[in-house]
Amino acid sequence: MSTFLLEIVTPERMVFSEQVDRLIATGVDGEMGVLAGHIPTVTPLKVAPLVFQAGNKRTNFAIQGGFLEVRPDKVVVLAESAERANDIDVERARAAKERAERRLNNRSSQDHTDFRRAELALQRAMNRIKVSSSGENR
Ligand code: ATP
Repeated sequence: MSTFLLEIVTPERMVFSEQVDRLIATGVDGEMGVLAGHIPTVTPLKVAPLVFQAGNKRTNFAIQGGFLEVRPDKVVVLAESAERANDIDVERARAAKERAERRLNNRSSQDHTDFRRAELALQRAMNRIKVSSSGENR
């Protein structure tokens, strides 16, 4: 099977850059699979897992929104933040989830911006918890 270069980039750094066989990402319009030779395209990504395979090795990343860009020479995931399953601090994500839930349950806080921010924080935390439990298999 032919491979392609996958780069995962955040505003802070290049998180990942290796040859892979295939990937599955969750775009705003649903799941999207990419193999070598896919037509060039740009898709906004949800706060969701990204899974890719290289040989027998499957790797999961938590992607916190951004874009998937399929270029002729490589595939680039530009993410707000991205963590490999094995690098996720689950306790931190659980604490973030509880904090967000407390804010969402606090009816006295009527500020729409705070509410939306808490909803997004909850999505990020739940994505991280889900991805960390999927781990990596060889
Ligand atoms: P927290 O409230 O715990 O900071 P957050 O969702 O607000 O979570 P982000 O602003 O999305 O955090 O990310 C800030 C930085 O911290 C990024 O570099 C991100 O990769 C990293 N990060 C956030 N949460 C975790 C986690 N649970 N495990 C590992 N890295 C994390």
